[in-house]
Amino acid sequence: MDTHNYEFSSKTDKPRRAWMSRYAEFHRRSITDREAFWAEQAQLIDWQQAPKQICDYSNPPFARWYVGGTTNLCHNAVDRHLKDRADQAALIYVSTETDEEKTYSFRELHAEVQRMAASLLELGVRSGDRVLIYMPMIAEAAFAMLACARIGAIHSVVFGGFASGSLASRIEDAEPKVVVSADAGSRGGKVVAYKPLLDEAIRLSKHKPAAALLVDRGLSPMDLTAGRDHLWGPLREKHLNTPVPCEWVDATHISYTLYTSGTTGKPKGVQRDTGGYAVALAASMKYIFEGKPGETYFSTSDIGWVVGHSYIVYGPLIAGMATIMYEGLPIRPDAGIWWQLVEKYKVSRMFSAPTAVRVLKKQDPAFLKKYDLSSLKALYLAGEPLDEPTAQWISQGLGVPIIDNYWQTETGWPILTIANGVEKAPSKFGSPGVPMYGYDVKLISESTGEELTGPDQKGVVAIEGPLPPGCMQTVWRDDARFVNTYWKSIPGKLVYSTFDWGIRDKDGYFFILGRTDDVINVAGHRLGTREIEECISGHPNVAEVAVVGVADQLKGQVAMAFAVAKDASGLTSDAARLKLEGEVMKLVDSQLGAVARPSRVFFVNLLPKTRSGKLLRRALQAVAEGRDPGDLTTMDDPAALQQVRELVGAAAKP
Ligand code: AMP
Repeated sequence: MDTHNYEFSSKTDKPRRAWMSRYAEFHRRSITDREAFWAEQAQLIDWQQAPKQICDYSNPPFARWYVGGTTNLCHNAVDRHLKDRADQAALIYVSTETDEEKTYSFRELHAEVQRMAASLLELGVRSGDRVLIYMPMIAEAAFAMLACARIGAIHSVVFGGFASGSLASRIEDAEPKVVVSADAGSRGGKVVAYKPLLDEAIRLSKHKPAAALLVDRGLSPMDLTAGRDHLWGPLREKHLNTPVPCEWVDATHISYTLYTSGTTGKPKGVQRDTGGYAVALAASMKYIFEGKPGETYFSTSDIGWVVGHSYIVYGPLIAGMATIMYEGLPIRPDAGIWWQLVEKYKVSRMFSAPTAVRVLKKQDPAFLKKYDLSSLKALYLAGEPLDEPTAQWISQGLGVPIIDNYWQTETGWPILTIANGVEKAPSKFGSPGVPMYGYDVKLISESTGEELTGPDQKGVVAIEGPLPPGCMQTVWRDDARFVNTYWKSIPGKLVYSTFDWGIRDKDGYFFILGRTDDVINVAGHRLGTREIEECISGHPNVAEVAVVGVADQLKGQVAMAFAVAKDASGLTSDAARLKLEGEVMKLVDSQLGAVARPSRVFFVNLLPKTRSGKLLRRALQAVAEGRDPGDLTTMDDPAALQQVRELVGAAAKP
């Protein structure tokens, strides 16, 4: 299996069914012989007690995997490897922000995780308690996640780019006993203080964590709150040699919650189990990522996102690989930094997002040739649609397969891709691939609610229950929201909606055509437009606002806001409008974080609405993108769209 027959083919190529026979059978078995298939995969991890039942789906849509089994994620990621590879690299921390580089062997990682676990125990954390992790990309963030898993605590990582408002709503929902954070992160050489944002978030939240465990990187001075704030340094020293055994937990024990955006303003806590997740990751490392023990995995994501959970921390470590945690930009000190790391650490599998590749594409292509990349076997890209020029450019530049993969925070591992570990298969430009084993993927007609079985029909991408191991169990503390948001009954079936449009071609390859809801995807980051609207509405001079996603060459999409001012009398000049626009952007920065900041805030006299007062979001988005808005017969006042057209048109002029 050393040579690959990987190739791109165009959508119009002849059917390529023959090569897929082995994979097709593998996939079929995962659905029709589910219990036996997933019982086999369960062998990929260590269990303290073997599961008694593989899948309990007696109460759909709630699936309980590996019932009766007990295991531990940290054991599988760390302790299990001590026997064979204690001195092999496990975690490679590289920061081009602070010029630090440190490799932790499995033995050293084991020690650090126990120190962190002992510190959390000292601060009162027990199995089932929540620990919120608000951290930059530093090794201690991984120690904290693994330490939680070790003692059965539920971690909830909040992306470090989120500001105090986003953080406060997550603290309130997760009710953590302890928050693990740091003095600061750094981006592009600029220190971003975390502690004041954390303090403000705790002030805003109704729930007050009992303690904060703080890593002092010496980047930004911290005001410590007596009795609540504890420094990691001294606690670590105190627990240098405190052994903390792994707590064996039920397979269904919650390992973590991770908040993600949906249609409504309030982010959902996606809740994940332990046993199913460990098995799903171990299987994906074998069949999709083909990771071998002793090799190095480099995912350029952030621990604040699901890719960071599955493919920076848990997946590679479970597979016995070294994993790189990189703090920094892809173009600093220069656009060769990633490839320099690939050469230095002999990275075999790399995972990134199309936006990052588009950033590199604007740089000197010579950087792709400067380093020895012979260790690299494949580059996996996910999080947003992969456009053909980007895929072509990086594929030719690196000379390795580019493997698009489509999934969501909710699923924890790829729904659609190519499982080269089962059988080598070609990719098609524009398609993430075929349904992965365990996922019974359907396309559902929006108009009739029925399953679409023919080729090239557009429908909502859905998955027939039960969801495979590793996917969300429910929405944290809100089973009703889980059922009502995601699940639909179609004749004879209960299906999970991904909220993505898709089509399937005659060869069974899927193409993803964008979200069906108000979620937008900015540089691979999933944002709810409603959340941004709620924030902007908080400005004293905003009466009404609509946020839409607008196509962008670099980031895929950007958020664009159209607001009606409460008092427009002062908005007669460009300068006045720009001043208010700046205020609104600052508000978003301070409450949600710069990641959610709209690219522009335009002030309009009115928003395009139907006569019954419903916002014409799709029409607004179409006009903002310079497209035809389609049928407008229900529209109340056409002047609204005309003004949007003029504003966007004028802004686009050089
Ligand atoms: P998140 O939960 O943040 O990972 O975002 C998931 C969403 O990102 C999906 O529902 C899709 O809309 C989009 N997405 C993720 N991966 C891909 C991909 N490979 N191609 C197209 N869209 C993707």
